[in-house]
Order: sequence, then structure tokens, then C-alpha cells
Amino acid sequence: MSTVDTSLPAAGGPALPQERTAATVPGPRSAELARRRAAALPAGLTSASQMYAHAAGGGVIVDVDGRSHIDFGSGIAVTTVGNAAPRVVERMTEQMARFTHTCFLATPYEGYLEVAERLNALAPGDHDKRTALFSTGAEAVENAVKYARIATGRSAVVVFDHAFHGRSQLTMTMTAKNQPYKEGFGPFSPEVHRTPMAYPYRWPSGPANAADEAFARFALLVDSQIGASNTAAVVVEPIQGEGGFIVPAPGFLRRVADFCTERGIVFVADEVQSGIARTGTWFACEHEGIVPDLITTAKGLAGGMPLAAVTGRADIMDAAHPGGIGGTYAGNPVACAAALGVFETVEAEGLLARATAIGDVLTTELATFDDPAGIIGEIRGRGAMIAVELVAGAGDSTPNPAAVAEIVRYAHARGLFVLTAGTYGNVLRFLPPLSISDALLHDGIGVLRDAFAALAR
Ligand code: PMP
Repeated sequence: MSTVDTSLPAAGGPALPQERTAATVPGPRSAELARRRAAALPAGLTSASQMYAHAAGGGVIVDVDGRSHIDFGSGIAVTTVGNAAPRVVERMTEQMARFTHTCFLATPYEGYLEVAERLNALAPGDHDKRTALFSTGAEAVENAVKYARIATGRSAVVVFDHAFHGRSQLTMTMTAKNQPYKEGFGPFSPEVHRTPMAYPYRWPSGPANAADEAFARFALLVDSQIGASNTAAVVVEPIQGEGGFIVPAPGFLRRVADFCTERGIVFVADEVQSGIARTGTWFACEHEGIVPDLITTAKGLAGGMPLAAVTGRADIMDAAHPGGIGGTYAGNPVACAAALGVFETVEAEGLLARATAIGDVLTTELATFDDPAGIIGEIRGRGAMIAVELVAGAGDSTPNPAAVAEIVRYAHARGLFVLTAGTYGNVLRFLPPLSISDALLHDGIGVLRDAFAALAR
């Protein structure tokens, strides 16, 4: 057994004191674990924080030195309903006491069906839907491509600049950014084609042209270079996550989706990061009124348990032959129980509205930050998925990753945990759990305000 400091809280969840301890990290115990880590783990495995977690819940992470940090990361968009959320823990505990695994491919169980039924009902569109469960986001994306290929008999997959779809062979290929995700890990999968994202802030001829021009480039790629008759799927994040919370120019996704429908191409919304209440709706594609053929979810789906899903049109999902899809752990019963607890929590606690309210506070407050040099290029996102893109200064949109690194260092040292994103590493992203209190949310924003002020001095 590892040594757990009995002077620290014995349980997490909302019972933890909802406070911030402004103290430098790492504390002595975290530093000791960092030394053990160096001898036990490969160098390429990195962590954004220097603190080691002891307990978490509500809006805080308590580290092994007993310091309490405000959580603006939710374990990268995972603990949307809060860490160790009571309904999630209760459901999991009940399930764990009965059985932890049988393998759905061997002996099925009801929890899997319930999760599938819930996702089928929640996903946009009133057509007949099916859901298959997996363990990770990358696995869900891989399987969405498998479904699209078998259903269409075509092989090409179209993805976008700034995309992130995972770290497996196929999804790493679909991911846009070379360093750190692809560098040296090739050769890559064939039949993956990339086209520009309608990224308003950085569209060369200006934001007003982004939707039209990006759509024209996309249509040209599919119709005249790949051939629609060879194109199985278009995979797109309705809000690009790792790419820096890029919200596609209004109307762009709709045009891409309609184009796919006209040509029999499977339109896949990768909602692994944006899905399950994060943006104030169950799925981010709802903001655009899009009905995808397939939707991938993971992260927020099961409160931290490894669970992912492909949900979509029955005719596409039924195209795979018996035994062609699955996995030993896919749809694990404890993870399914956790997901049912997540659905319940979102509904019982009104978390869709809470996500919208958190987003309103973040965007309103961020817009009031003192920024004499004009390094805030853009504040964007939806619901509790908000980002700030930092640039060289007013009139110069050169990415400013150094300023982002400085703000992160400042925040972490004062007990606010934040994450970065962006193709150029110049985006601060905020993904607070929806269980965060208003007081902690404002306290965290205050730390950010101070960080920007310190940078300006
Ligand atoms: N798709 C998107 C949009 C993601 O944000 C991520 C994870 N950041 C993935 C896929 C991959 O998920 P996982 O890490 O669970 O494989």
C-alpha cells in the first residue's frame, strides 16, 4: 500500500473545503514523488502540474501536501459533473459490489444498454439511433471511421487543420499537430486528408470570409481531389479542443454537414472534448443545429471512468458484421454505472444551465482584464469551455506562447490550476467543473486578472 497521509481529507467530492491555498508547488511530498517518478516513468510522459493529487471535488484539487487548488481543468474536460460526484460514486459503488467486469462480448449486462439508450435519446435528430461503447476517445474515433468505411465501402477520411482526434495510429494521423503528437512516430495511416478549418481569428482574408472560403477549399478537396465516391467520412470537432477552442465560423459546419449528406459521406462530430453538457447543451453541435450521422463522446461521459461511445444512425452502425466491433473493456460495467450517475447529476443539478452561466461569467470577466499591450487576441468558446488566445500585441497576431507559459506559472504557484492549448501553444483554456461554486470561480478569475497585471508590469 502507498502511504496516505491520514491528516489529509479521507474523502473527496463536494464535502471538501471549497477554498484555495495560495502556496508554492511542488510542496515537499509532491517533490518527493517527482523524484520517484523520474526513476520509474519514461521521460516522454509529462504532466501539466507539479502537484500530486490527494483528493478532489466541487471546484478544488487537494494535493498530497494538503494544499487546495482551484480546478479550471476538470482532468482535461472529464470531471464535468465534479470530481467524485456523489451520484457517480454511489452508482459505481453499488456496481462494484456486484461485479466489476464480465466483458460485454462474453456476458452482457443492463447498464451498457441503459447508457446506449440514454445517448440515443439525447443525441440530436429523431432518426433511429444505435450506440456502441468503448474505453477511450481515440478508440471511439477509430471505430467511427470503421463504421463509416464499412457502411459506405469507401476509404478516405477528411479532417481539418488544428484537429485533435487521439494518439493511436489512425487518430494520431488524423490529429493535425506534429510536435508533440506525431514527431518521429510515423509512418502514418493512409487515406487521411486535411483541409483548412474556418478559424475566424486567423483566417487570412478576415473572419467574415472564413466560412465561405474554408468551405470552398473543403469542397474542392473532396469533389476534385479525393472524389466523393471515395470519401467515407468527414470528422470534425464542433469546437476544436486541443487546437485552442476554435469555434468554426457560423454556418461552416452546417454547409459541411449538408455537403456530406448530398454525397453519402458520413459526417462525424468528434465531441470527445465538447460533448456531455460542457458547452451548455448535451452536444456542442446543437449550437449550430447540426444533426451528425455519428457522434463520438468520451471524457465527460463517465466522470473520469474510461468510457467512450459512438452514437449514430442505425443504418450506419448496423453495417458492421458480428464480431467486427468491440473490446475487452469496452463499456465496462463500473464505467457504465458512472455514466448513468453523470446523466442523473446533469439533470438533477441543472448543469446545462450552469455551464452556460459559468461561460457567461468567464467571458464577461475576461473582457474586463487590463491589457495595455493588447496581448489578448481573442476570447472565445461556449459554456464552460472558454479560451483566451494570446498574441504579440495590438495589431500583431503573432502567437505568444511565452505569455501563456508565464500566466500558467503564476496561476499554478497561487493555487489555480489551468491548462493550455493551441497549435502554437498560445491559448489558455478554461474547463472548470460545473460543480464549482461562484465564489471559487470568481477567485480563480481574480488570480488570472492578477497574472495578466503582473505580466503587464
Ligand atoms: N478527440 C478529441 C476531440 C479529444 O479532445 C481527445 C482527447 N483530448 C481525443 C479525441 C482522444 O481521447 P483519448 O485521450 O481519451 O483517447
